[in-house]
Amino acid sequence: MEQVKNLKCLLCGHEYGPDEVLYVCPNHGTEGILDVQYDYDLITSKFSRTDLKGKGESSLWRYKPLLPVKSNTPVPPLTVGWTPLYPAPRLAKTLGLEHLWVKDDCRQPTASFKDRASLIAIVKALEVNAEVITTASTGNAAAALSGLCASIGMPNVIFVPASAPEAKIAQLMVFGSTVLLIEGTYDDAFDLCLESAQVYGWYIRNTGYNPYMTEGKKTALYEIYEQLEWEGPDAIFVPVGDGCIIGGLHKGLKDLFALGWIKKMPRLIGVQASGSAAMYHAWKQEMDPVQIKPIKASTIADSMASGLPRDRIKAMRAVRETGGAFLAVTDEEILQAIPALARGCGVFAEPAGASSFAGLVKAVQTGLVRPEERIVILATGSGLKDIPAAMQTVGKPKRIRASLKAVEAALDDNLFLLKR
Ligand SMILES: [Zn+2]
Repeated sequence: MEQVKNLKCLLCGHEYGPDEVLYVCPNHGTEGILDVQYDYDLITSKFSRTDLKGKGESSLWRYKPLLPVKSNTPVPPLTVGWTPLYPAPRLAKTLGLEHLWVKDDCRQPTASFKDRASLIAIVKALEVNAEVITTASTGNAAAALSGLCASIGMPNVIFVPASAPEAKIAQLMVFGSTVLLIEGTYDDAFDLCLESAQVYGWYIRNTGYNPYMTEGKKTALYEIYEQLEWEGPDAIFVPVGDGCIIGGLHKGLKDLFALGWIKKMPRLIGVQASGSAAMYHAWKQEMDPVQIKPIKASTIADSMASGLPRDRIKAMRAVRETGGAFLAVTDEEILQAIPALARGCGVFAEPAGASSFAGLVKAVQTGLVRPEERIVILATGSGLKDIPAAMQTVGKPKRIRASLKAVEAALDDNLFLLKR
C-alpha cells in the first residue's frame, strides 16, 4: 500500500502513517475524520489513463492503484462498481436541457451505491485480521456490508433504526447478519455501534468515521469521467445525508486533478431532503461545518435522514471548493421525482436515489444550471428497496374480470391503443 502517504486530520491537520491509526484522529475523537493522502508521483510512475483503455476489469478494481488497499489482500468476489452511465435525452428535454446522464448505481450487487464503500471496508478489515465487522446505517450501507460479508462468510453485526424500510431489513436477514433494530434514530444507532465495537473489538465500517469509505465512493467519479471519455460534466447532482458520497466524489476529482488527468472541476450540487437539511442551512448561512448542531431529521427518503451529517466537513468542502451548491427538496418533490425519473429514462430509484433528479428540477427552475451544460445525476439506490414510497405517487392499476369485454372497457380512455 505504498501509494498511501498518510492519513490527515481534517480538524488539526496532523498526519499519521497508514498503519498508525485505524479510524479517527486520536486528538479529536469521533470528530477527527481523516483524509487518506496519496503519493501521486509514485502512482503516476506506474499507472496512467491509457492503462484503463481496453482494461477487462469491469468493476471498481480497475482503479486499484488509486485505492488504499494492499495489492495482495484477497477481495470479495461480488462485482461492485463500473455501473452504467446512461444518456437521458428524453428526460433532458422535459427540463429544457441538452446533455443529461444518469449514473445508475441501483445496479450494484445489493442495489445501492453503498456497495462501493462496504467493499473497501471489508478489504481493510481483512488487512488487520478482524474477525467481525460492524456498521450503523439507515439501511443501504448495512445491506451492502451484509451482502459482501455473505460472499466471503464473514460475521457481521448491524445497527439500523427500527424505522428502516422492510426490504432493507429483509436483505440483512437473508444474508445472515446479526441484526439489531434500534429503537431510535440513525444517530442513536451510530453512537451505539461505536460503543459496542469498542467493547467487543469489532472492525467499524461507519460512514464519516472510517476514513476509507470516502475512498470507495470516489470510484463513481472516476467511472463518470472514463465513461464520458474524459470530457467531464459541468455539474453533478448528488443526494446528501451524511455527506460521504459527495465528499467521495470530491476526493475523486482531487485525485484526477493531482494526477493531471483532468483540468477543470465540475460543480458538485448536494441535494438534501428539506426535513433533513443541516448541510443546506449551514451552507446558506456560510457557517463553519464544525459548528453544525444536530437537528431532528424527518423525511420519506430514509437513506438521507441524518440529524448531524457525519461527513459534514468533507461535504461542505466538496460544495465550496467546486463552486457548487446545496439544495433542499420536499418529500413531495422527491416522491414525484421517482416516476418522473423512471418514465424518463428507465431507472427506478428509491426516494433518496431519485432526490438528485428532484434537485435538478429545482436547479432548472431557479437558474442554477444552464440549458447547454453537461449534467450528471446520481441514482444511488434501487426503487425496489422502498415499494410503499413508490406506490404513494403512482396510484393503483385497474383490476378487471378475465374477459375481453373487460379489457375493452378498461382501455376506453387510452385512445392510442387502437384495435387492428
Ligand atoms: Zn486532529
